Amino acid sequence: MAADPGGAAGPAGPAHAVPDARRRIPRTDALLRDPRLLDATGRFGPERVKSAVRRAQQQAREGAVPPDAVADAAVALLPRTASGLRPVINATGVLLHTNLGRAPLSAAARQAVQDAAGPTDVELDLTTGVRARRGRTALAALRARVPSAEAVHVVNNGAAALVLAATALAAGKEIVVSRGEMVEIGDGFRLPDLLVSTGARLWEVGTTNRTTVQDYAGAIGPETGFILKVHPSNFRITGFTRAADVGELAPLGVPVVADIGSGLPAPHPRLPDEPDARSQLEAGASLVTASGDKLLGGPQCGLVLGREDLVRAMSRHPLARALRVDKLTLAALEATLTGPKTPTEQALDADPEQLSRRAELLATALRADGVDARAVGSRATVGGGGAPGVTLPSAALSLPEPYATALREGPVPVVGRLDGGRCLLDLGSVPAEDDRRLAEAVRRVRAGER
Ligand SMILES: *Cc1c(COP(=O)(O)O)cnc(C)c1O
Repeated sequence: MAADPGGAAGPAGPAHAVPDARRRIPRTDALLRDPRLLDATGRFGPERVKSAVRRAQQQAREGAVPPDAVADAAVALLPRTASGLRPVINATGVLLHTNLGRAPLSAAARQAVQDAAGPTDVELDLTTGVRARRGRTALAALRARVPSAEAVHVVNNGAAALVLAATALAAGKEIVVSRGEMVEIGDGFRLPDLLVSTGARLWEVGTTNRTTVQDYAGAIGPETGFILKVHPSNFRITGFTRAADVGELAPLGVPVVADIGSGLPAPHPRLPDEPDARSQLEAGASLVTASGDKLLGGPQCGLVLGREDLVRAMSRHPLARALRVDKLTLAALEATLTGPKTPTEQALDADPEQLSRRAELLATALRADGVDARAVGSRATVGGGGAPGVTLPSAALSLPEPYATALREGPVPVVGRLDGGRCLLDLGSVPAEDDRRLAEAVRRVRAGER
């Protein structure tokens, strides 16, 4: 090995180089004048930047970082985002992954959130200068998207929509619901418990697999608040089954509330069994409740659509104030409803051949870099409590299994799934514009291996 020309290991030897190097570690105030660290102070606050600086100086004292690289080391130690939430690439093949925040917002919705972040006219009419209905343009956009709804309201999530319906329309009364629809929506939350917590009583009718119109009719009386139809969105019962649909229940003379879950505004050709707001209202539902961050592809919120008197009873109930959404949600919802196709819609409508081509291109490029990468066929799912049992033709990049952990822990975390001893990165849930970042993440792991 060639001698280091004039480096740390000079005639004095490494034993002396360390204290000397220590003296050359830049002071905190000097480091904080580095433009990158100055900029970071504006974004993350002084404490987090100083903490990165102190850790970098410590690394230099330990000899792990040369004195002239302390600023670089501090920059590398900075947090990537101002919150603990890290942006990830969802390559699970589950379009609406609950653990990854369900629907990714469209570019239009992201921009709308930014634009609304400061003071906005969310509750003020700028022409007259007096108070105006909160979120009126977002509500108008929702009405326009589902014209069969006489009125609409928005709350924090789908569960809040149900709680508000039960409280405003059935507290102290009965909610008639089929035993086959007493579902758990995930993480231990059960709809029956949620409804009972409002002071409504549940009148369960039918059996797990079969419930008829007569079952409902026999339960209806002066104590009935409404009939609840819940879309069993995260499981399927097959075989000897019977369920009364909204069209059959509407003539019974009490309001029918349809919790469709996924929030499709209108039928989707690829999801023939998924209920949608328009069809449910046209079939006779008095109210439809749904989530905004499932198939609608918007921010987390709960949508309420339907009869004017019932929506008003809900939106004017004192509880509505506790469930109201913030301006950022209203902004994102409106932009989702009026803007271009959402990432969720694009993923639903993706052309399988194009997904295969993307997988082939990625695999070819990565193989050239020495990665054991293959393009394979795959099946994506909707997830997030939507379209159970439906799979969408997709394509994936198949990598050796150890990539799964390394990719998840990378600077741009990629979450894939394991299948048959391989790590699959399913492109069905990855927007095409992220392919380059995906390839870079894989290359980074490969480089780390060497
Ligand atoms: C997802 C879902 C809910 C809960 O909605 P959140 O927005 O998660 O609160 C309720 N009912 C059904 C049928 C669902 O699919």
